[in-house]
Amino acid sequence: MREMQKRAASICPACKQPVASQIKRHKTLGVFVPLWGPGPCRNPDCAEYEPAHHRPPTRT
Ligand SMILES: [Zn+2]
Repeated sequence: MREMQKRAASICPACKQPVASQIKRHKTLGVFVPLWGPGPCRNPDCAEYEPAHHRPPTRT
């Protein structure tokens, strides 16, 4: 048997559902280091739910 596991997905801290990992830049000692963390949750029932579109459209 072969295990073909991808990089472990992050888990939403609120609903424990797997969410896509997203990379954030964390500044430490004057340099930015990449930091992997849980991305926005796509579970509409979750308190941490974040819709795909953040800002309202700026149409005039
Ligand atoms: Zn969630």
